[in-house]
Amino acid sequence: MSQQFGDFTASELYCPKCQRSQPVRERLLLVLLDGELHEFVCARCGASLGKRTTTGRKVQPASPRPAPRARKLLR
Ligand SMILES: [Zn+2]
Repeated sequence: MSQQFGDFTASELYCPKCQRSQPVRERLLLVLLDGELHEFVCARCGASLGKRTTTGRKVQPASPRPAPRARKLLR
């Protein structure tokens, strides 16, 4: 059972490196006082394709499977 979130959540974005639309992974960049900053990265090459900020509520990863490559967040 996958749960859909009503807000706009990109599942595919055009990746200039791959030169085609790619599925994206969302990762947490920053936790702010009133929300969280997430980054969309290309699931294939890891390029940053976009960002979004959530405010006032928790967002859970839409994907139930763990990320294949867990990378440490940059400070
Ligand atoms: Zn890519």
